[in-house]
Amino acid sequence: MAAPNSAPPAQAASANSKRFLILFDFDETIIAENSDDAVVRAAPGQRLPDRLTAAYREGHYNEHMQRVLAYLAEQGVAEDAIRTALEKIPPTPGLTALFNFLRAHQQDYEAVVVSDANTYFIETWLRRFGARPLFRQVFTNPAGFDAAGRLVLRPFHAHGCARCPANMCKQVILRDYLARRREERGGLAFRRVLYVGDGANDVCPSLALGPGDVVFPRRDFPMHRLLEAAAGAGGAVSGGPLKAQVVPWSSGEDVVACLQTLVKER
Ligand SMILES: [Mg+2]
Ligand SMILES: [Zn+2]
Repeated sequence: MAAPNSAPPAQAASANSKRFLILFDFDETIIAENSDDAVVRAAPGQRLPDRLTAAYREGHYNEHMQRVLAYLAEQGVAEDAIRTALEKIPPTPGLTALFNFLRAHQQDYEAVVVSDANTYFIETWLRRFGARPLFRQVFTNPAGFDAAGRLVLRPFHAHGCARCPANMCKQVILRDYLARRREERGGLAFRRVLYVGDGANDVCPSLALGPGDVVFPRRDFPMHRLLEAAAGAGGAVSGGPLKAQVVPWSSGEDVVACLQTLVKER
């Protein structure tokens, strides 16, 4: 007899035998805009004072967002208003179809979120959208409200990647996750790894993918432009050659079309 609190064998086996891993960025990949911009609409006049906009330094987005959240708290913008602003953000085109596909194929696809937003924004939106159970894990910067009602962000981790912002390298997250899951799955690797993104910081994790894997850059967004430029330069991106297949998307339906084909592989 199994111990009373251990998972039933069949369930444990299916959770650990999924063939494909699909990773999602959040801002402008799952949701139709940048969550940070959406939250600014909760500010008085729905905009930031010029001093805050001017203080932003390239590559220091996390610090910038800390100042924005401190400003919102100073202005008396409470959690309710922030949550409401987040919950109003629509999904990207076709994302609902993509999530429905994943829901119908949970025996094949393990899904995770890898985002430089924060736990509060992402968990709030996913829960509102009824999509939180689709994801095994959400990798993002930890966030919580302090006693003064200010949302405080912490960096996700420290890393040694020169291409990425100080608080997050998505490639390091991906490599660590693959190694950990392989161990948990008794040595079983995913047959394919898929990555859906739009931003410049989605290029670094794409470089960790192999020739059987697929990256989905959102068409005409920075990730797509960077990968196109790399293809023109013989496939070399800063940080190494891209080995994965590239399937640009405009709608979640474009991603579904590819996942449909993969699922038929035996
Ligand atoms: Mg993004
Ligand atoms: Zn990196």
